[in-house]
Amino acid sequence: MTRHALVALIISALVVAAPLAQKNAPAKPGGNAKLDALKQEAVADVESRTQFAQQMVDQIFSYGELGFQEFETNRYLIDILKKNGFAVQEGIAGIPTAFMATWGSGKPVIALGSDIDCIPQASQKPAVAWHEPMIEGAPGHGEGHNSGQAVNITAALAVKKIMEREKLPGTIRIWTGTAEELVGTKAYFVRAGFFKDVDIALFTHVGENLDVSWGERAGNGLVSVQYSFVGETAHAAANPWRGRSALDAVELMDIGWNFRREHLRLSQRSHNVITDGGDQPNVVPRTASVWYYFRETDYPHIKELWETGDTMAKAASMMAGVDLLPTKVLGSAWPQHFNKVVAETTWANIQKVGLPQWSDEDQQLAKALQKELKNPRAEGLRTKLSDGLQGPVRENTGGGSDDIGDISWNVPTVTLRYPSNIPGLPGHNWANAISMATPIAHKGVIAGAKVQAMTLLDLVSRPELVEQAWKYFKDVQTKETKYEALIRPQDTPAIWLNKATMDKYRPEMKKYYYDPSRFKNYLEQLSIKYPTVRTTAP
Ligand SMILES: [Zn+2]
Repeated sequence: MTRHALVALIISALVVAAPLAQKNAPAKPGGNAKLDALKQEAVADVESRTQFAQQMVDQIFSYGELGFQEFETNRYLIDILKKNGFAVQEGIAGIPTAFMATWGSGKPVIALGSDIDCIPQASQKPAVAWHEPMIEGAPGHGEGHNSGQAVNITAALAVKKIMEREKLPGTIRIWTGTAEELVGTKAYFVRAGFFKDVDIALFTHVGENLDVSWGERAGNGLVSVQYSFVGETAHAAANPWRGRSALDAVELMDIGWNFRREHLRLSQRSHNVITDGGDQPNVVPRTASVWYYFRETDYPHIKELWETGDTMAKAASMMAGVDLLPTKVLGSAWPQHFNKVVAETTWANIQKVGLPQWSDEDQQLAKALQKELKNPRAEGLRTKLSDGLQGPVRENTGGGSDDIGDISWNVPTVTLRYPSNIPGLPGHNWANAISMATPIAHKGVIAGAKVQAMTLLDLVSRPELVEQAWKYFKDVQTKETKYEALIRPQDTPAIWLNKATMDKYRPEMKKYYYDPSRFKNYLEQLSIKYPTVRTTAP
């Protein structure tokens, strides 16, 4: 059969298959030979873009930008997307480092998202299996958010090529999880209407296995609130009775909170940092601020925790005799709930792709780092997929948050996890950066991109899947729980955050930006041997 005849056959098969499958719901993912052929083609195409993906991972790793300050990362990604035929809306929802890129036309509209920001104090030489910062005190990709856009863009370009040739209708959106470490933007994207016409959101996040889940996910939602107090200065020794200390209010609030902590639900997590603790000891602090994260498993409990925090702040201001300024919400996240139909579709593709082939060097690095961290079982990288598709968490004992939760309560959503990191690490730590510009990250990204490409093809070729996903969303997920934003009408994105830190470190960091025109990969540029592991005990 000629290539042309094959294409015609595929199109006619798709046209015939779609209405048939609609009647026979629920459809079995991947039960269509022609679609399978297109998927195989997409997988091969992703494989051929290995160098392109590797460069993206290494480049963004080298930028190491904190939330709301992802200017180099944004410029870089926008250039790639424009060069590849995407129209890009920049600075969306009042956030200079956020964008929404669009290619294609008509339904379905599939939005591919991933985070881009990094972690304070996580600067680390990649491939070196102990703590060795590139720049002491600087931020770094100690979570692995440098890799997700490579998964999405590589997959999108492979599928776009097929959609163009096959004249498949559909729109691909690519967007950034800006300032995810501050859970700072996704609720604003929703509020600004960027997900109104989206049919399915395929999110992706770095992990230690190739994985997806549906239903309520273990972990919490949260609200992030800044409390600022204003008192009066005075000579702290000569006339202390003339002053009123704003720092006293901060300390009293923290003491009050820590006493109350014992009587809160076990699933809560709450923590704070003092962002302004005064200027110098001999001046009674006129201003002071404390920044709290209040985490709980559902919206009503998050609100309750937040109200308790507000009470502590008011009471503390009264005790210290200072004023409490109007509070600022710096971020928020709904708990995550993922779509059953999209997760099943993704899981079927995960099983086809499987885990990457790890080399001896990959395993050597992983085991050396696990040993370095005194992990009792230094088992290396994952070599087996999980036993089956994970469903809803049975007993949610709380944990981390991601503002993809807000998207997941507005549009059927899943998060695909891909194996670019090493199991058993602390998270938000230099150790989590070690694999992120090495073959481990690169292989994990390619595996993720293959799955993402296959799922995209499923969704554009089988309209019944989108229909069933919405049925689950309406009849099951949101039957009783309705989305209500945690951000208040007066809140705006906290785009000033991290500016001072980036201003401090960026000049030094610039010297280490990856230059793909001169070096095959970032390790080559840094002259780091892969892997660099201890030859004697530490
Ligand atoms: Zn993350």
